[in-house]
Amino acid sequence: MNINAKTVPLGVVGWPVTHSISPELHNRLIEKLGLNYFYSAYPVQPGAMPRALDGMRALGIRGLNVTIPHKEEAFRLCDRLDAYAAGIGAVNTVVNENGCLRGYNTDAPGFIACLRREGVSAAGKKAALLGAGGAARAVAVGLLQNGAAELRIINRTRERAERLASELAARFPGRVRAAANADGADLLVNATSVGMKNSETPFADFDRLGEGCVVCDIVYCPRETVFLRGAREAGLKTVGGIGMLVYQAALAFELFTGMAPGEEAVEELLRRVELKRSVALTGFMGCGKSAVGRELAQMCAAEFIDCDDYIVKKAGKPIPEIFAEVGEAGFRDMESRCIAELAGRSGAVIALGGGAVLRRENIDLLRENCRVVRIKTDVGKVLRNTAGDRSRPLLRGKTPEQVAELMALREPYYQNCDLTVDASKTDPRETACIILDKIAEMS
Ligand code: NAP
Repeated sequence: MNINAKTVPLGVVGWPVTHSISPELHNRLIEKLGLNYFYSAYPVQPGAMPRALDGMRALGIRGLNVTIPHKEEAFRLCDRLDAYAAGIGAVNTVVNENGCLRGYNTDAPGFIACLRREGVSAAGKKAALLGAGGAARAVAVGLLQNGAAELRIINRTRERAERLASELAARFPGRVRAAANADGADLLVNATSVGMKNSETPFADFDRLGEGCVVCDIVYCPRETVFLRGAREAGLKTVGGIGMLVYQAALAFELFTGMAPGEEAVEELLRRVELKRSVALTGFMGCGKSAVGRELAQMCAAEFIDCDDYIVKKAGKPIPEIFAEVGEAGFRDMESRCIAELAGRSGAVIALGGGAVLRRENIDLLRENCRVVRIKTDVGKVLRNTAGDRSRPLLRGKTPEQVAELMALREPYYQNCDLTVDASKTDPRETACIILDKIAEMS
């Protein structure tokens, strides 16, 4: 990126704003399309939006994205509004046309574009929406404007749901109402903030939804919320919040620059956001998790963490000694505590110990922020990889038949992983390449 006197400034305003990934997304698009723009983050305190927007006019800042808590104030302060912003009552994108500030809302079309990418259409759906805040309002307008047959709004504070429903009913008569349940719905969207900072879920009655119901969460961090996990476990199709985040950014980018990024650039952004998350490798002892993990970390310039090494360092003693002192159960407790510490790391490759899958809560916790990849291999490779290794108490003195038996017993525990990669005929580098390709396909 070559910044010079002609570089056009863009940015995001919010409070706080330091966690925003918008600068990374927009600057990547600028770089990819070879444009002379630069996108930055501006922390704007509550109450300071009038001055921030005056500054935008005075400095000739071409475009700003607006995030919490300024979207409603930006709506009041803009000179012109697009149809989505006017219908939602909130602005997330401001474009400066020679001092005239035009306010847009790309959250609603961003959500619809994300559904479309998943092959889901709002048209004719019996939709239910959890939440009645700013984001829920955008999702509601997006769904109704794109042909949802009915929309039930369910919110902790019932009056807010009723207020939003009656406001929307004026524009979309007979299709929207406040409700107490989502029974029979064929599209369910969580637009509450529940699940963002805690392991709670705003909804658990997945068995009462319509058959084949699609369940979306617009919360994007963690990657898999407890809400989405519940839906997945109930056998329903799930859509996470990252797609909406990326599409609303791509639509804002087009408004700022007049250039549509195109599907390929959007797909690259989705992969980029996805690969920033950690990857946790699991599989039977000796399947090559550490060797593959090191290759993968090198290819992604990520930190590599071997969970067993982490435990040994914490305990100050080797694994056979830990087993001798506290037994396998004591070791597994120690391992779960270490996994809980590692699960929150971003951009790391974590090689888990062979038995980490035995506790379902370990994998559930990891799945919130990591892709959990199972490396599958055959008995021969396990025996070759572990020959002479004295740090594996569970394999000591075992015949190939006994190892095969132990492997078969472990098989059901891998059901909960994001994906499985067969490494019986590939070397660690090749396996790492396959994992990267598969993760990119999934994002
Ligand atoms: P908001 O205006 O503060 O609304 C929060 C909503 O969550 C309200 O409906 C609130 O219900 C509900 N809620 C909060 N705590 C709750 C609890 N403990 N139990 C039940 N309901 C609870 O926030 P927002 O701007 O709409 O944002 C909501 C979420 O959407 C955030 O997590 C945000 O990150 C996400 N978001 C994602 C994207 C994306 O691109 N993926 C875009 C925008 C927003 P009450 O009315 O009862 O308080």
